[in-house]
Amino acid sequence: VDAGCHEEDATARGLRNYVSPAAMVERAGVRPADVGTVLVSHLHWDHWTGHRLFPAAEFWIQQDEVAFWTGPVARFDVYRQLANAAALGELVRLSYGGRVRLVAGERPVLPGLRVHWVGGHTAGLQIVSVETAKGTVVLTSDASHFYRNVERRQPTQIITSLPQMLAAFETIQALAGASGLIVPGHDPEVASRFVAVEPGIIRLA
Ligand SMILES: [Zn+2]
Repeated sequence: VDAGCHEEDATARGLRNYVSPAAMVERAGVRPADVGTVLVSHLHWDHWTGHRLFPAAEFWIQQDEVAFWTGPVARFDVYRQLANAAALGELVRLSYGGRVRLVAGERPVLPGLRVHWVGGHTAGLQIVSVETAKGTVVLTSDASHFYRNVERRQPTQIITSLPQMLAAFETIQALAGASGLIVPGHDPEVASRFVAVEPGIIRLA
C-alpha cells in the first residue's frame, strides 16, 4: 500500500531520517522489483513519488484522484505544494505502459483484500481493508493520519472535503468492526497497538 517518497523529495523537503520504501520492503523479505501491485491511497508527494522504486508494479489509483490532480484546482498553492508535478506527469507514461489501473469506488483486489474510495483528505483517497484471522484490518492512509482523528472524529486541515473526511471516519470504523484493527497513516502508536517485529517493521496480522 502506497509507494512512499523518493529520496530526492525527502531531501528537497528536509525530511529527516529518510529510509527508502524499497529498502523497507526488502527488509520485510520482498524484492522491490517483484512487487506486482501497489495500491496508491492518494497522490500526495509522500505517498506517490516513490513509485520509481517499484519498476514492475501496477498502480491502483482512484479515477477521482487522477482527475483532481490533472484538473483545474490542483494548480493553486494550497494543493500544489502537496504534490510533485513531475511525478504526477509520470502517470501518463505509466498509463501508456499499462501500469496504471484506474478504479472507482470499492473494488476487490484479491480475495479478502479491497480498496474503498472515501475522499475527504484528497478527492480520490482510497483506504484498504484486509480480512485476517484476527478480524478486518483497515489501512486508512491519510483518511486518518493519527488514531485521534478517527477515534475522536477530529479532522485534519489538509482536505478537499470536510464532509467526506467525517464520513470516512464512519467508514473506517464500520469496516474494522468490533476488532478495531485500524492502521492510521502516520501514527507511531501503530507500533504499540500491533506487534513491532523490528524497528520500522510492524506485523499487522
Ligand atoms: Zn496526504
